[in-house]
Amino acid sequence: MGRRKFILIGLDGLVPEQVERYRGRVPELDEMLRGGFFSPAIPSAVTDTPTNWTTIATGAWMGTHGIIGFQDHLPGMAAGETRSTFNSRLCRAEYLWQAAERQGRRCILINYPTAFPLTLRDGVVIGGDGLFSSRWTVRFPEYISSHRRVPGGKRLLLGPAGRWRNVPPSWRVLGEGVVDLEDQLRFGWDAAGVTDWGTTSEPGSERRRVLVFRDGGRTRMAISRNRDAGRAIAVIGRGEWSGWVRERFLGASCLRQYKVLDLDWKRGRITIYASMAGRHRGWAHPRGMEDEIIENAGGYVESLELSPDSAFRKGWFDGRELEGIMDVMEIQAKWTSDCAAHLASTQDWDAMLVQYHAPDGINHDVLGWLGDPDPRRRRTADRLMLATMRTMFRMVGRIRASCAGDDTVVCVVSDHGNIPVDRWVNVHRIMEEEGWEVFKRDTKTGKWSLDPRRTRAWNAGHASGIWINLRGRERWGCVEPGGDYEELREEVIQRFRSLSDPASGKPAFELVGAREDFESMGVWGDRVPDVFCFARPHYLFYTTGNNDIPDDVMRFYRESPEVMPLAELKHFPVVSTLSAVHWHLPNASVGYASNRATLILAGPGVARGKRAERVNLVDVAPTLSSILGIDPPRQCEGRVIREALDTAG
Ligand SMILES: [Zn+2]
Repeated sequence: MGRRKFILIGLDGLVPEQVERYRGRVPELDEMLRGGFFSPAIPSAVTDTPTNWTTIATGAWMGTHGIIGFQDHLPGMAAGETRSTFNSRLCRAEYLWQAAERQGRRCILINYPTAFPLTLRDGVVIGGDGLFSSRWTVRFPEYISSHRRVPGGKRLLLGPAGRWRNVPPSWRVLGEGVVDLEDQLRFGWDAAGVTDWGTTSEPGSERRRVLVFRDGGRTRMAISRNRDAGRAIAVIGRGEWSGWVRERFLGASCLRQYKVLDLDWKRGRITIYASMAGRHRGWAHPRGMEDEIIENAGGYVESLELSPDSAFRKGWFDGRELEGIMDVMEIQAKWTSDCAAHLASTQDWDAMLVQYHAPDGINHDVLGWLGDPDPRRRRTADRLMLATMRTMFRMVGRIRASCAGDDTVVCVVSDHGNIPVDRWVNVHRIMEEEGWEVFKRDTKTGKWSLDPRRTRAWNAGHASGIWINLRGRERWGCVEPGGDYEELREEVIQRFRSLSDPASGKPAFELVGAREDFESMGVWGDRVPDVFCFARPHYLFYTTGNNDIPDDVMRFYRESPEVMPLAELKHFPVVSTLSAVHWHLPNASVGYASNRATLILAGPGVARGKRAERVNLVDVAPTLSSILGIDPPRQCEGRVIREALDTAG
């Protein structure tokens, strides 16, 4: 084979069992499977998003690249202290795009989650700061309703229309509504998926008015900052999206879309959904490319495709209603393929890496429902997942059609799978009762945080393990190295190994051990907790953090059993509504779902219609390097997947 190009299309959380389940019903997927190579792929532990987009991009195991879960605890930090891993500076391995650039190839990155701070000198980088980037996400979604109360929702007050200017003569005005958008619910993201950061207040008044009218037999509304229909930011009817509208919040210029979910003036029922809003500037390199992208593809809002997940987990919609908002995923899919098509035709390039953050969110919401005794839940899960598959693979089809020439291999890859959960391990209760975690209450805020001077061991949460507060390593570490450390570590290991679920009598953990025990799984180095563990499928080993815990939540930890139903976590709706997570053993499986990732390759030199049982995610970078005709990234530990390549070609 001569020199080839590649396009990597990352689909976050695509489970190989989903590929099997929906093949035959998703034309663009079928086409790739017929003409290419498909295999489940073993991700790096811990099987989280930053860990494995880094594994894919470096060809290195987690122990080598050092990105463990969503937060790294680094030597010298105090107990409980961490740093976000959406940070290329924390990565200890060379990225595939750096290796390509070093060898004279030019790369385009679109929304690849570990792209910042920039690691390319030449080439094009569009977004990819991390999920819900704090740099260019201006506003989170808003649920605005006259009659429906939801957590963090905004009230739309209806009344007779005031004096509006510039109302077109054909509009028969019915009335108006007003909503204040001063504060907003902030969503965050961690290993459990979408979490709630609480409400933030922004200074100054952000008011939107809607004018409801009949025109040509239809009821519609104009959304405006003031009573001027001529300057309305959107004019839409029920079920319609506004298209991108220019807004300003906190002095930041941004783009967002509005959708009318309900519009019944007679019964006083109006509900509007406002999408996340993204900045105009800052997310494109070389600088100044933003206008060109917006003109050709529309506004860029990082993680827009996760909005249905956020809304579901906040309790804004149930499974059925969620379908009314699923089309936001199509908006992002269209943006992604339009952006790719534009750059492919206007830039010189050899490799393109694109990431679209689905089906992960939907899998968190409903994948576990496939095992639910209630057939309605199983059907809803199936419908939502199939709709997601179709949206994603239509996007894949468009990218292949517009960007991939005869010399281009297309690689569809995911970072991990998803495993159902319905039981919860109350880690803080266990750790506190054993005297390992010590909490203190801030008298001013009334909130509880780990005492880093007296805590002996603490839950690493996201990183699937327990840290020992070691003198000389942790700031204020209080456990002596040597005998004391080993003794405490052994106690912790035995405690969690023997933890069983009173409901079933079965152990809650599959594997618990000293970190050295896991080196054969690519787990090593100073960022791995002293005790490493994997819960069994159906068990969630998770807390919402070690610091700033409110009184009622602390009481809840202390008074609740060691193992309990996940659905009873009343204080954490975003956690209790999880149906599946990706934290278990990298190859954990329950039959209809597994924690394994997915790899599909198609194009020149790729074996046609071939299926393999197992590759590793570290193999993706060396295989793509070989397609590009370059040496793999410097710390690469994977192999070229020869069985995927058609040696006769
Ligand atoms: Zn992920």
